[in-house]
Amino acid sequence: MRGKVGLEEHFAIPETLDDSRGFFPEHIWGELKARLLDLHDNRLRLMDEHGIEMMLLSLNAPVVQAIPDPARANDVARKANDYLAREIQKRPGRFQGLAALPMQDPDMAIRELDRSIRDLGFKGVLVNGFSQVGDADTVVYYDMPQYRPFWSVLEQLDVPFYLHPRNPLRRDARIYAGAEWLLGPSWAFGQETAVHALRLMGSGLFDEHPKLSIVLGHMGEGLPFSMWRVDNCNAWVEDRHSYPAKRKIADYFLENFYITTSGNFRTQALINAMLEIGADRIMFSTDWPFENIDHAAIWFDAADISENDRLKIGRTNAIDLFKLGLS
Ligand code: MN
Repeated sequence: MRGKVGLEEHFAIPETLDDSRGFFPEHIWGELKARLLDLHDNRLRLMDEHGIEMMLLSLNAPVVQAIPDPARANDVARKANDYLAREIQKRPGRFQGLAALPMQDPDMAIRELDRSIRDLGFKGVLVNGFSQVGDADTVVYYDMPQYRPFWSVLEQLDVPFYLHPRNPLRRDARIYAGAEWLLGPSWAFGQETAVHALRLMGSGLFDEHPKLSIVLGHMGEGLPFSMWRVDNCNAWVEDRHSYPAKRKIADYFLENFYITTSGNFRTQALINAMLEIGADRIMFSTDWPFENIDHAAIWFDAADISENDRLKIGRTNAIDLFKLGLS
């Protein structure tokens, strides 16, 4: 399929590059580093080869979220956003941007959000899970009350928030001790991000701000498969659930969430997601450069779904949600 749009596609600047080191064997580093720093060369060639018209670019992970000093987190976010805005200007028909944000300080996050959307012309934001604030061991999740003003501004600006994975801190990851292969994309990324998304759903955030759009990668981080059980476990017990939100958790998933195919190139999983959240809320992505563009595109182009759904998932859903202005 020609004309695809990819939403979870990463780059790095020299200052943020090292955060991506260590996820792969050391002999891979040279290749990964080159992939992260490149925008207009090999990346563009692969996009052309595999029918990707546009990528929404975002910074590598965890980077800004893992800088406990809010002022420094803000500096790195601004620097990366400025760099990305300049690069997008060279090929605005092929690249658009999702902003990095210093979520450590809600007021700073609001300022950089506003600047990124209004001044730099970004189409949304991508945040790498929880933020460390003040010291490396203090973590904040965005269902906490101090973030309500941030969500209010995001809702007013009417742009999507991509909740991207990061690993749990070591002290919160005892279940992975001795089985470190489960960290990262194999399992821990998905668990961490799914729980964060469920916290947002249960917090009442979407009762207060019903127009928010949250995007999850990796075919929804396992949530499409598990959503029914979240709401319906132990159904014989009256008032089984206690959380601040007013409605069933699945109601928020269906009305406020979108998912992408990044790093999960499996038709069986896609069909499950289509049955749970619907083809209107699924969008193609690769997760370049951590996953291969050819693996994503060759799978998606041939997946056994209707051509109407392929067009929506591959292209038009993203154009509508991110207001990309492509016909
Ligand atoms: Mn990613």
